[in-house]
Amino acid sequence: MRLIRYHLGMRSQTRPNPSQQTNTQYDFAVVGGGIVGKASALAMAQLGYSVVHIAPDLHQTIALRPSFGQRIYALSPSTKHLLSELNIWDGLDHTRIQPVRDMRIYGDRGQQNDQLHFSAFEAGRPELAWIAESDLIESTLTQAIRFSKHLQSIEASVDEVRFEPNTSPMLSLSNGQTIQTKLIIAADGANSPLRQSVGIEIDQHSYEQHAVVANFACTIAHRETAYQWFLANGDILAMLPLPQQHVSMVRSTQNEHANHLLQLNNKAWSNQFGAEVHDQLGELQLQSTPASFPLRRMKAHRLIGPDYDPKLILVGDSAHVMHPLAGQGLNLGLRDVGSLLQIMRHKESYRSVDDRVLLRRYEREREGDTTSLLWLTDRLKKLFSAQSPVEKGLRNWGLGVVNRSHMIKRQLIERALGEQLHG
Ligand SMILES: Cc1cc2nc3c(=O)[nH]c(=O)nc-3n(C[C@H](O)[C@H](O)[C@H](O)COP(=O)(O)OP(=O)(O)OC[C@H]3O[C@@H](n4cnc5c(N)ncnc54)[C@H](O)[C@@H]3O)c2cc1C
Repeated sequence: MRLIRYHLGMRSQTRPNPSQQTNTQYDFAVVGGGIVGKASALAMAQLGYSVVHIAPDLHQTIALRPSFGQRIYALSPSTKHLLSELNIWDGLDHTRIQPVRDMRIYGDRGQQNDQLHFSAFEAGRPELAWIAESDLIESTLTQAIRFSKHLQSIEASVDEVRFEPNTSPMLSLSNGQTIQTKLIIAADGANSPLRQSVGIEIDQHSYEQHAVVANFACTIAHRETAYQWFLANGDILAMLPLPQQHVSMVRSTQNEHANHLLQLNNKAWSNQFGAEVHDQLGELQLQSTPASFPLRRMKAHRLIGPDYDPKLILVGDSAHVMHPLAGQGLNLGLRDVGSLLQIMRHKESYRSVDDRVLLRRYEREREGDTTSLLWLTDRLKKLFSAQSPVEKGLRNWGLGVVNRSHMIKRQLIERALGEQLHG
């Protein structure tokens, strides 16, 4: 009999406590406590499956402060759709969410025509996207999970996974518990120890950049508009609207410049971006502690366990990571969850949740969306970092051309919204 046993990263210092060694069998073990992990666990539990949710940071209190949190996301209609299906959307505090009705993108020549303008009105819908804090979504998901009767949460990390032929996978946890499950949903982030443990290879590329994020109050109303500037030095500056005349900045910049920005004092921060955004947003005043995140592109070679049959699927950043210029990483991860939800909801009654046919169905469904979005984001990033005069001219001219073509714009909006517009 072939036994495959994997140790995940560092062995935990916690000694197994025999009283905690349970051998409960679940339909799903969801590993990872980010938004994608929480949404996956809730989705499967709402379908009536028995679910165990495992992450080292599950019981951390997420306190919403009067000021806006550090991590802010642009949410697409596909995300709204999933959160609505999970009964989360209406539970969010909408006074902390800003609908986006306009997007304006500027080229780096400073010419009037080098800009692209998308409007909700043109797309025939009330809004293009929503801007919300990560903490807001996470805390609402956590509350829903607390009241979900098919779901058990365990605050621990996974130390070891064992796969044996014809037996369900076994997870050994840092608190000494052993969990048996039909299928593992790996939502354990970009460095996914589970993905590595089963040997799923990845393609990855570092952009040698960091995204610096900070929130500001602005003196000119943002008019529910998301702004983005492609700057001449290759930096990309986004200002996302927040309620109460605040904006959230994401600036992708060279690593050294990111380090430099993080050393500045409050006053210097408020002045730093004044020149670039003054016409649209007026004076800026810093409202949060700036932070930075390294940027890379990553795609796993496969989204399900290898052919020797580990019962595991990848969702969210464990499967794909992209440049934040299009604000789509989380939206794509939640579309993984949406696909899994549909597949499990409509599965044939004679199939078990770990049936290879269902896992392949999931992989086939997610492949196109993932590959095309990663490709498009990477091409845009490269196009706007290119420094040759020809490429510079082309990209600026391209913005104006796209802006004048209703059809191309409509297709781009569809892509950005993560769904087909009808009518
Ligand atoms: C600057 C920036 C701006 C962005 N803006 C946007 C945006 O506007 N819109 C958008 O859609 N996306 C955006 N993204 C992308 C988004 O942040 C990610 O795609 C999203 O957070 C991924 O969520 P996740 O749940 O898959 O992973 P994560 O949030 O990384 O969660 C991983 C979880 O796994 C747990 N874990 C790790 N190892 C183990 C283990 N051994 N055992 C158990 N648990 C483990 C961790 O503790 C954590 O809870 C942005 C990203 C950046 C960097």
